[in-house]
Amino acid sequence: MQACEISDGWTQFLEYAKSRCSLAAFGNWLAPIKVFNSTPEEVVLLVPNIFVKEYLLTNYKKDLCAFLPVYADGEPAIQFMVDSPKAASNPVLQPLKEPVIEEKRSVKLNKNYRFENFIEGPTNQFVKSAGMGVAARPGQSYNPLFIWGGVGLGKTHILHSIGHYINENHKKLKVQCITTEAFINELVDSLRNKSIEKLKQYYRSEVDVLLVDDIQFLQNRLNFEEEFIHMIEDLINQNKQIVITSDTRPDQLKISARLAGRLEWGLVAHLGVPELETRVAIIQSKAELKGLDIPGPVAFFMAERIHLNVRQLEGAVNKLCAECRLMNMNINLEVVEKALKDMLQITLAASVSVEQILKAVAIVFQVRVSDLKGSCRTQKLAFARQIAMYLAKKIIKQPLTILAASFCKTHSTLIYAAERIENLLKTDEDLRDQVEIIMRNI
Ligand code: ADP
Ligand code: MG
Repeated sequence: MQACEISDGWTQFLEYAKSRCSLAAFGNWLAPIKVFNSTPEEVVLLVPNIFVKEYLLTNYKKDLCAFLPVYADGEPAIQFMVDSPKAASNPVLQPLKEPVIEEKRSVKLNKNYRFENFIEGPTNQFVKSAGMGVAARPGQSYNPLFIWGGVGLGKTHILHSIGHYINENHKKLKVQCITTEAFINELVDSLRNKSIEKLKQYYRSEVDVLLVDDIQFLQNRLNFEEEFIHMIEDLINQNKQIVITSDTRPDQLKISARLAGRLEWGLVAHLGVPELETRVAIIQSKAELKGLDIPGPVAFFMAERIHLNVRQLEGAVNKLCAECRLMNMNINLEVVEKALKDMLQITLAASVSVEQILKAVAIVFQVRVSDLKGSCRTQKLAFARQIAMYLAKKIIKQPLTILAASFCKTHSTLIYAAERIENLLKTDEDLRDQVEIIMRNI
């Protein structure tokens, strides 16, 4: 293979990888890599730091073998050099050293993710209190604390808040915050380098509080479960606090029953979609952080229409801030409607028809849409129908008489159904989960 063919190989590999990862992952990890030198036997790649090398080998080893030369032992024939800023002024590049075990992939805590900035309401109060409890007395209350909930509802925010609080109030304790992906990579490396004992030793002696984000990435990685369980048990036995977040509850993760059991050992806390008043407060708080004042009725207007998750709300506030500053406008309903046209339309479009609601309810309750529309009054069907009516009243902005007519009911039946479900939702966690799943399907 000639040199130019090899760099072509690298270009082809990049094209291949680009079609298989997110744009952000490509930009962060793969785009900065440069070919420093290439021979038919070996390629020398310039990487900005050690993690890029690890990312590349962990995620693309097999693919690299397909595009680049391979050593006799089947490993991709790649040498890595770190292209540090120092190296730029110094023409002699330093060959990459093996990672030192202390050089951990800890996540930097987001400075805005603090308890003070977390607006509470009925659906997230419990998680916030549990987080504050754990932060006040690490290792002495619930261990592990397992936080689960849908995307963009504040799991990472609470996790980082715990980290900040402990850093500031228990200065002697060493907090390590890590994504599950990075944690697995670390395990993979240490298993490969036969340094798993060193890694365990590191966690045993250097870490007092372990914050693990997005444990759902451990699904389908059965071979790491065993090590992961040992690690958790080891830390918990030493009263070291563990907090884990997930988009799914432990018993519904695709993991072994044993690991699910361990994750449920301490406290499992659910983070739900904030209701209207909390969403209004979140909008105003996010705007205030940006030095902007959103009047109550405007915040209310936005909160009514953007209701899937908080990240979306935050996006709307950011967009509004940017537009108002740019155009030097004051915020009022007209400006909001114009600035957020796309977002509001998406949300409205996503919640248009009773039919969609019925379909989503039918899937979760495993009944037929035609039965939901019919008059059969078995307990299951009647209950499912009431949930559909509750959701229709909550989501669809139409006169109640018209909505009720879509169910062939009177408007007082619809109000009764909606109120009944609303009351049940205050105490019935399983029902809250079901409704959340239905909302997501809608
Ligand atoms: P998740 O990890 O659950 O996907 P994040 O923690 O990343 O969600 O939250 C998404 C965004 O929403 C963050 O910017 C976070 O600050 C914000 N957020 C979520 N819930 C709240 C809340 N109750 N109060 C203030 N901000 C919140
Ligand atoms: Mg998160």
